[in-house]
Amino acid sequence: MTFIANAKRYHQIPYNRCGNSGIMLPAISFGLWNNFGGEDTLENQRRMLMKAFDLGITHFDLANNYGPPAGAAEKNFGRILKEDFSRYRDEMLISTKAGFRMWDGPYGDWGSKKYLISSLDQSLQRMDLDYVDIFYHHRPDPETPLEETMVALDQIVRQGKALYVGISNYNAEQTQQAIEIIERQNTPFIIHQAAYSMLDRTIENGLTDILEDHKIGCIAYVPLAQGLLTSKYLHGIPKESRAAKEFIPFLNERDISSDKMQKIRALNEIALERGQTLAQMALVWVLQQKSVVSALIGASRVSQIEENIQALNNASFTQAELAAIDNILN
Ligand code: NDP
Repeated sequence: MTFIANAKRYHQIPYNRCGNSGIMLPAISFGLWNNFGGEDTLENQRRMLMKAFDLGITHFDLANNYGPPAGAAEKNFGRILKEDFSRYRDEMLISTKAGFRMWDGPYGDWGSKKYLISSLDQSLQRMDLDYVDIFYHHRPDPETPLEETMVALDQIVRQGKALYVGISNYNAEQTQQAIEIIERQNTPFIIHQAAYSMLDRTIENGLTDILEDHKIGCIAYVPLAQGLLTSKYLHGIPKESRAAKEFIPFLNERDISSDKMQKIRALNEIALERGQTLAQMALVWVLQQKSVVSALIGASRVSQIEENIQALNNASFTQAELAAIDNILN
């Protein structure tokens, strides 16, 4: 059946300008790091993408290595794109990245020009696209000269394989260095993808100031701390959760300490007082940080996307609420 998107999709959520660029990002973006690999059904993936798009989410974030196995998320996304979204390509922002290990040998990892250019070619092939909207260098490379990596990003844009570029996981100092190079090249470097949530506030120590100064947008990834900042783990580890899935190594029982759970329970109380779920409060909390233009969520089912998007109906905090949250987190 042909997918016809909700006619009201653009009347539901805000779109925020990404830094000093021409593009607007939906306040909530959707990432395919988990739940889009070989272990997940294509039908659930399709349902989630359709629901996200129907709710106004126009930005979909991938990387060469998302799966498992690596590459599977791009493949599955490409298939769904072709089957259901081909008429909507120009309404979508599609991002991918390279920077982590993708193939054997010395050219399938880190930040060389050789790796970035060939990895993006492979990503385009897997997704069956002519270009991506945003291409990121996924993590800093301590060995490759930064100049080489930035030249590669510039070349990718000049070749028309990406419209804009960004970096991810660079700290404040590395970001400042990258900006200095890239400003000389006049590359459309518009975005930084950084971990940010109530449980990880590292970017507040300098990075957001730099992004603000240079008018670069920040997209906050893992805003729900992989599900910890939801009501999911309040009463133990449910069977159908990321922490319980053995093929997902990124979150497990050890990460769910009683100290953390104590904080999460206290945060949950504040969310309930605001008339929100904890997930909803966690999302709007990241959006009130300066330079954050979008919260980049993941989901394993449609109902999570529906719940999360409603966060935007109550997006402001009183000073007292913010202070109470700080108090719990410090
Ligand atoms: P989140 O912190 O949003 O966690 C998403 C997970 O939380 C879901 O898969 C689901 O887990 C659970 N969840 C979501 N909503 C709810 C809800 N309402 N109620 C209960 N549980 C919920 O982000 P992710 O860790 O998924 O990462 C998001 C995106 O960020 C990635 O897809 C990727 O695009 C990007 N990313 C980028 C990185 C980088 O280095 N640049 C690194 C990591 C991520 P469950 O399966 O348990 O249901």
